Amino acid sequence: LFFFKHKPASEILSGLVGSEMCIRDRLISESEIQSKINEIGDQINEDYDGQDLLIIGILKGAFITISDLAKRLKVDVSFDFMSVSSYEGTETSGQVKIEKDLDIDISGKNILIVEDIFDTGLTLSYLKKILDSRNPKSLEFMCMFIKDTDKTTSLDIKYHGFKIGPEFVVGYGLDFEGKYRELPYLAVLS
Ligand code: 5GP
Repeated sequence: LFFFKHKPASEILSGLVGSEMCIRDRLISESEIQSKINEIGDQINEDYDGQDLLIIGILKGAFITISDLAKRLKVDVSFDFMSVSSYEGTETSGQVKIEKDLDIDISGKNILIVEDIFDTGLTLSYLKKILDSRNPKSLEFMCMFIKDTDKTTSLDIKYHGFKIGPEFVVGYGLDFEGKYRELPYLAVLS
């Protein structure tokens, strides 16, 4: 698995076989993750002090990050969720399909998009394009994990948790074939 350097997750995934997979290493512990969440939460409280904030979680992976972060926040915050998936051939077309759109109108609002992991950057740059066109007051990003892969696009991530290697990871919201999301730590499969 460690030899797939500089490949996006979709390519690494095609080399994994479900029935043979198990957790190999714990990359980042529960307590490291929790203290990072507290740090980011405190920073958000400071940055948005006196302002309202709409946090948009990208399903499904961000659900654990959002629920941990939410408990730390003291600003005037509301939440909404979006679900997106890649079109086939995404790596070349750069297209992302909205499976579930927002319920709330974001115009004139401070928006913080929360995503589980930043790999090639395609998903978030596409979302930025769509959401910018809806005229928010501000639009920022938080990603729990930033992968060391070639970025097809650059994007300013205001809040980030951990920089990690290019290997495929699970846990803390991230899955492999729908499993392992519930793990309170980040792990590598083998
Ligand atoms: P990007 O558009 O930045 O290339 O990809 C972001 C999406 O790819 C994430 O939201 C996540 O769904 C998926 N992804 C990328 N790397 C990993 C990984 O190591 N593990 C899991 N479970 N999903 C990943």
